[in-house]
Amino acid sequence: MLQKREKVLLLKTFQGRTLRIVREHYLRPSVPCNSPLCSQPTVCLNDGKLLSSDVTHYMIPDWKVVQDYFEILEFPELKGIIFMQTACQAVQHQRGRRQYNKLRNLLKDARHDCVPFANEFLQDCYLPREQGESMEKWQTRSIYSAAVWYYHHCQDRMPVIVVTEDEEAVQQYGSETEGVFVISFKNYLDNFWPDLKAAHELCDSILQSRRERENERQESHRKEYPEHLPLEVLEAGIKSGRYIQGILKVNKHRAQIEAFARLQGASSKDSGLVSDILIYGMKARNRSIHGDVVVVELLPKNEWKGRTSALCENDSDDKSSGESTSEPMPTGRVVGILQKNWRDYVVTFPSKEEVQSQGKNAQKILVTPWDYRIPKIRISTQQAEALQDFRVVVRIDSWESTSMYPNGHFVRVLGRIGDLEGEIATILVENSISVAPFSEAQMCEMPVNTPENPWKVSPEEERERKDLRKTHLVFSIDPKGCEDVDDTLSVRTLSNGNLELGVHIADVTHFVAPNSYSDIEARTRATTYYLADRRYDMLPSILSADLCSLLGGVDRYAVSVLWELDKTSYEIKKVWYGRTIIRSAYKLFYEAAQELLDGNFSVIDDIPEFRDLDEKSRQAKLEELVWAVRKLTDIARHVRAKRHGALELEGVEVRIQLDEKKNICDLIPKQPLEVHETVAECMILANHWVAKKIWESFPHQALLRQHPPPHQEFFSELRECAKAKGFFIDTRSNKTLADSLDNANDPSDPIVNRLLRSMATHAMSNALYFSTGSCAEEEFHHYGLALDKYTHFTSPIRRYSDIIVHRLLMAAISKDKKMESKENLFSNKDLEELCRHINNRNRAAQRSQKRSTELFQCMYFKDKDQETEDRCISDGVIYSMRTNGVLVFIPRFGIKGAAYLKNKDGLVISCGPDSHSEWKPGSLQRFQNKITSTTTGGESVTFHLFDHVTVRISVQASRCHSDTIRLEIISNKPYMIPDTELFHQSSLLLKSDLVKEVTRSVEEAQLAQEVKVNVIQEDCEKYCQTKGRSLYTLLEEIRDLALLDVSNSHGI
Ligand SMILES: [Zn+2]
Repeated sequence: MLQKREKVLLLKTFQGRTLRIVREHYLRPSVPCNSPLCSQPTVCLNDGKLLSSDVTHYMIPDWKVVQDYFEILEFPELKGIIFMQTACQAVQHQRGRRQYNKLRNLLKDARHDCVPFANEFLQDCYLPREQGESMEKWQTRSIYSAAVWYYHHCQDRMPVIVVTEDEEAVQQYGSETEGVFVISFKNYLDNFWPDLKAAHELCDSILQSRRERENERQESHRKEYPEHLPLEVLEAGIKSGRYIQGILKVNKHRAQIEAFARLQGASSKDSGLVSDILIYGMKARNRSIHGDVVVVELLPKNEWKGRTSALCENDSDDKSSGESTSEPMPTGRVVGILQKNWRDYVVTFPSKEEVQSQGKNAQKILVTPWDYRIPKIRISTQQAEALQDFRVVVRIDSWESTSMYPNGHFVRVLGRIGDLEGEIATILVENSISVAPFSEAQMCEMPVNTPENPWKVSPEEERERKDLRKTHLVFSIDPKGCEDVDDTLSVRTLSNGNLELGVHIADVTHFVAPNSYSDIEARTRATTYYLADRRYDMLPSILSADLCSLLGGVDRYAVSVLWELDKTSYEIKKVWYGRTIIRSAYKLFYEAAQELLDGNFSVIDDIPEFRDLDEKSRQAKLEELVWAVRKLTDIARHVRAKRHGALELEGVEVRIQLDEKKNICDLIPKQPLEVHETVAECMILANHWVAKKIWESFPHQALLRQHPPPHQEFFSELRECAKAKGFFIDTRSNKTLADSLDNANDPSDPIVNRLLRSMATHAMSNALYFSTGSCAEEEFHHYGLALDKYTHFTSPIRRYSDIIVHRLLMAAISKDKKMESKENLFSNKDLEELCRHINNRNRAAQRSQKRSTELFQCMYFKDKDQETEDRCISDGVIYSMRTNGVLVFIPRFGIKGAAYLKNKDGLVISCGPDSHSEWKPGSLQRFQNKITSTTTGGESVTFHLFDHVTVRISVQASRCHSDTIRLEIISNKPYMIPDTELFHQSSLLLKSDLVKEVTRSVEEAQLAQEVKVNVIQEDCEKYCQTKGRSLYTLLEEIRDLALLDVSNSHGI
């Protein structure tokens, strides 16, 4: 029986009218209590997470405690916490979606002993708000009365502590009910958790910042910013079209002045606006922070401004900066914030001298976030001096209209500025990547495989699975030294003469049950993170490097797709999907497989499986394997041809071409071996067919991957650049684009083709995961692969999407067999949210990989004498024009960056007869494909697209932000290497070598210091999960991943 109540909200509109909003509210006779002490289990019907029975008390935080001390409530040490619905809703309204989602995740997380309780839906607990009662008082009263109900519901057997920040509530309720205590949060920590040092420190830091905020509010009445409008006014304004909703994006190169509101949702359709809205200056930004969902009012047209288009440091990755649109654009101001997207920020404290100059109020320190787009933050601390050499994590608490800067509090220290570990930790925090070691609880879920206790195929699984161990020649082809083999292949002739192609993928979901600790952790990470010098696995190595690695000669569980193909036309006749047992016969590496394909059989000496065989069986086995590799390649060619129009984009690695004397004469893009394509094509085929299967079975809740077609306007720069070299790039379809890129080859300069491909990649949209219930079928399309449906199925070890897809596939198979599925599938809405999370994590993974590479590049060049070190001078190619400079690509190091032709003093570059450059007074003139610098003395020099120039590389050091690479053109001629040094000097530096060199020097420096023991050490340790493994193998894996991921990164 449900009981209807009406919840009335009275709101004042902008014009001063009072709006009466009635919300229907249904009360139920029972809701789950989630306690093992439940007195009425048949009524409560608890079926989710229960509180632990191993606690001395239950703790119920008041709404304000949940808001203010959430990060302490997240400590796994705190147990038996009940989050009342009233408190959760307060968080949702006051703190926004991010915080609310954090709370929801905490409640779902099995590692934390806390449960929700829907007090407002329960008849016996719901209290209507009384006339004249403030919202806050009502919330506290509701929570207290629900706590009393809960205490009695558990038969008075478990003391309940209500923790509140409301002094009056402590007085009023403190001794009202025996067994239900009401105390402050500080008091709670002191009494129950006296030894939880970290929690006490955080609590002090939060309390201090709050006290000072309150003081300030009393002291100062001067407003720095206009007040935000109330929520209902904002909502009504958006509806009526008066205001526009968008996400605030700050231009990191002009963080103080330039930000844009990127239109969102209905706003973009209704307002008739096509572009972003410019938010000019901090005042207009009105306390919103990069990433917030803001509400914007447009300014009258005569106040509109243009965006800046001149060259800034390191803006080579900015898509739109090619156009110099400085004409006025829609400009507005922020009138309110719908959703704050605040996160943890890494900051740097000012140096001692700066602190002194900040003067009178030295308790309050202005710290500078590492991310340029975030404003300075005021932190209350007495430790400013002690912290000045460290990267520190802080959180923002509030930003009052009376305060120039937001207020925040100190959270923890990451590491020393400039220290490799500290800087890597910074990159992780800035990308919200958390990679603590796998928990003990998670490790307990893992299967065992030790010499004493070897893992074996179980008899039940043997009955359930198709056994391919005797019938199929299964093998893998991977990079040399690869440990985590998640895919294998097979091909054979069937008795009817047709062929059977098989793709066999590690059966990760057999070991990772839905909602287990491992599953939750893998979902949170969503992917394995590859940084320049290390990686953080998604799954523990017992799975990723052992039981889910399809190594040669051992039994493994797999999920297989088997296609029956016509013997001559290779047309697909039948498909079978299911769980299997395999034993891979060979663990081949790419080069060896290619040799077999090319008929160079001497390579079998390098294949361990061929050792210790007599000549006869050796010959027989070789023939069998060669037949399979060739057949696979043949099939792959055929499949690929049918898919016509797939794009082959930027080759990531560069190969060195040697002349007869072993001198380097050229750098050419590394041609992938055909066998790479064979493997990739088989994986694409499997992903495609699994996509079709899960979509057919679950049309509204399947996880697929789409790659939207690119915006044509993003191609304009590519087209223009190609034209400069006399090539025509046809971007009408992916087929024409692929063909014209193949033809755009300058035989005298292979870099041109590489740069054009890189521009094409850049113009592409990102491929994204989505739930099929949330968009129309024609949008499923994968542009890069030219396929109508696609998903990720082939790498469940390192991608969480593939784990979901495996579960969907298993459910689809059960459905076909009319069996009840064991899998609990996500609804469309939940899957949509999960996809958003995975997409977001993938972007974080890409950014952190890029950032860590840049970090190593800077460390490689830092503190090198630019006059004597040959590494600092290099050949560069101009690939883009700006009004005050050019963008340059340095093939030797794979670096892209900006080089100024006009410096900060307004002087322009001049190259004399000996080609060496100097700064002189003069002016720049920019044309379509060239830029000319003319001095007042009449000398002039012109730089064209694709010109080779000599560049000096240096590092612009920064205390508060990451260091950046600086490029200076020192001559308008290509860099000529003196003949005698040719061999030593121009050897192409691979990213891996650069990382190795930097790591070595870091380690040497550490040894030299004899590793001074300091507190930071511990913190760093836990980030380095991969320490102790050979750095070299890791690097190789990353490199090969990059190669394979050619498919991945532009979308496959
Ligand atoms: Zn109960």
